[in-house]
Amino acid sequence: MKVCYKKIINVLLYKIMLRFFKKGTYMYIDTHCHLNMLVDKQPNQILNPNDFLIIKQIIDSARKVDVKQLITIGTSTDESLNSINIAKKNHNVFCAVGLHPCDCGINWQKDFEKIKQMIQNKKENKIVAIGETGLDFFHMPFDKGRQIYALRSHIELSIEHQLPIIIHVRDAAKDLLRVLKDYKNKIKGVVHCFSQDLNFAKAILELKLFLGIGAIITYPKNDSLRTTINQIPIENILLETDSPFLPPQNLRGKQNLPEYIPIIAEKLAEIKNTSTSKIEKITTLNAQKLFKI
Ligand SMILES: [Zn+2]
Repeated sequence: MKVCYKKIINVLLYKIMLRFFKKGTYMYIDTHCHLNMLVDKQPNQILNPNDFLIIKQIIDSARKVDVKQLITIGTSTDESLNSINIAKKNHNVFCAVGLHPCDCGINWQKDFEKIKQMIQNKKENKIVAIGETGLDFFHMPFDKGRQIYALRSHIELSIEHQLPIIIHVRDAAKDLLRVLKDYKNKIKGVVHCFSQDLNFAKAILELKLFLGIGAIITYPKNDSLRTTINQIPIENILLETDSPFLPPQNLRGKQNLPEYIPIIAEKLAEIKNTSTSKIEKITTLNAQKLFKI
């Protein structure tokens, strides 16, 4: 009887250890990057074989600093297709497809039909989320009504396919919350590149969405953002670079890269007065839970 107990305990311990090593320890996930934009090409141009080689090197460099999984995010039909092709060629890369609010032109509904087609083969295309979508009332000119309509369409598609949604917001926090509240308890996802105040953060957490934190937390002027983030539980945070945009402070003026995720984690650990390994472990578990990767 004693031996039997020992055996059961050993098997259980082994299973827990396996889970521990497989899930979330000693690895980061860059939950929002645009690998397709890290090569020298015009926007909405299809990647060529040389581009894929450059992107592979970028992915390899990230892996060397424990950024072992990446989600590359589409912003238009062509860039979504590029993202799918990058994911298909690299085993540790997944993708999201969607129309960025700044890419929603007059014919956005035609484009949206193409996005829907891509999702039909979501497994084969390694699509783990829909986006990025959202609202951007900063870049001129913009059509508020069209952006809101497109955002709602993306949200409804994400609910239909039970995929998380990746949301961009700029100068449109109030309108975004108004839309999201209509889908309370139905959506899951992340508001990426968090830069707003505590009230906005609380409203997002109430909707059970995550906040994506990037290298803007390293910028000297962002004291109030750091104070806000100090009050957000790590369990609600995902790490992201948004490469090639918004590099860490000491690399400003250069291209941002997925390999800079540890810099963001270190800064977040400093803000939250905790260890970098705790940030690494919890944010990775959060991402695995949300994107099922
Ligand atoms: Zn982005």
